Amino acid sequence: MSKRITEKSEKLFAEAQNLIPGGVNSPVRAFGGVGGTPLFIKSGAGCYLTDIDDNKYVDYVGSWGPLILGHAEPRVISRIHEAVTNGMSYGAPTELEVILAQLIKDAMPSLEKVRMVNSGTEATMSAIRLARGFTKRDAVIKFDGCYHGHVDSLLIQAGSGATTLGTPTSPGVPQDFVKHTISLPYNDIDAVNEVCSRRGKDIACIIVEVIAGNMGVVPPKKNFLEGLREITKKHGIVLVFDEVMTGFRVAYGGAQSLYNVMPDLTTLGKIIGGGLPVGAYGGKREIMDCISPVGAIYQAGTLSGNPVAMTAGIVTLEILKDKTLYQSLEEKSQRLAAGMEKVCKDVGIPAYHTRVGSMMCTFFTDQPVIDYATAKLCNTKRYAGFFHGMLDRGFYFAPSQFEAAFMSTVHGEKEIDETVDAFKEVIKGF
Ligand SMILES: *Cc1c(COP(=O)(O)O)cnc(C)c1O
Repeated sequence: MSKRITEKSEKLFAEAQNLIPGGVNSPVRAFGGVGGTPLFIKSGAGCYLTDIDDNKYVDYVGSWGPLILGHAEPRVISRIHEAVTNGMSYGAPTELEVILAQLIKDAMPSLEKVRMVNSGTEATMSAIRLARGFTKRDAVIKFDGCYHGHVDSLLIQAGSGATTLGTPTSPGVPQDFVKHTISLPYNDIDAVNEVCSRRGKDIACIIVEVIAGNMGVVPPKKNFLEGLREITKKHGIVLVFDEVMTGFRVAYGGAQSLYNVMPDLTTLGKIIGGGLPVGAYGGKREIMDCISPVGAIYQAGTLSGNPVAMTAGIVTLEILKDKTLYQSLEEKSQRLAAGMEKVCKDVGIPAYHTRVGSMMCTFFTDQPVIDYATAKLCNTKRYAGFFHGMLDRGFYFAPSQFEAAFMSTVHGEKEIDETVDAFKEVIKGF
């Protein structure tokens, strides 16, 4: 292993910090969780990233999930080129919006109607407003460690026990804005039952990551989702599945098809934009028709349904319709996960491995990770060592223990086996 030169990234990062808070436009990119200087990327091709110092990396971040087809997929690029020549935005309806909505509805039948927005955050924020307007209730249940974007009312740290109020996790969010939000432990159906049996009539919606992917990867326990469905039905609560990460990732029909539990509303993002900024929310017709201009609940967007972004989404979903891709993603992800698990076992490093399809996580801990409390027990210093060791060898994982690793359709067995070999070297140094 030769020492990487990252001179240009370091120089640019110094410059960026003068102009952009922390030098980044989204906090996790700053390497705060692992230390060191973030790499400035020059280009991506297939499963590889190249930084501005011309170092090449096998990429397991995939722009945090959207790039399931890898970087610069030729069919996506060519259709985007075509779309751009017809103009960038009209602020008027296009056929493309109808096509993408139909593709989404065909893949996920619980979305009888869909509204396009520009990010995952916008999707969850709008879904919550809709659920509140529809039920005429204010309270929202979310789960500790689940991330739904930077929506004010969801930036909350759970109080101790179900009876104490949560507090905002960010300055700038008034206590008043989170007073209607209840945060409960993920995978704890008894806690949900307890709160709903007391306060069911106050609760507008339960929002949940079907597979939690923002505290590392934490799959739902058996019967957790079924339990949520049952409780919400009983109390007239809107069930919102946040599939911004899992939609078209773990299966073409999303996590809801995998576990066969249908929500009332679903939020999407990431993959449905094919690498461009897109979000969407959709669900039951009677709920969706409460949105303006049919109903009175307001939600709008100047660039929503942007033709270039719609095109990227359409091509991506059309390619993914070939379901054999998901079989191959499963096999490749299994190969990587099994390889890494074996290395940990052989070397005797305690680790807990989770994976659903092409999203996975290696937690450096000797205990099962089932919720945020257990995720937080991980040895994050060890993760930082793993991260930098892999980076030095040309493998780009997320710069935080609490993120997923993503496989794309263009990672090859060669790259995967090289990843496992590099991991073996890195972990021996622990
Ligand atoms: C990424 C993500 C979001 C936020 O999406 P943005 O496009 O970053 O606003 C919301 N929910 C989940 C589950 C996500 O993974």
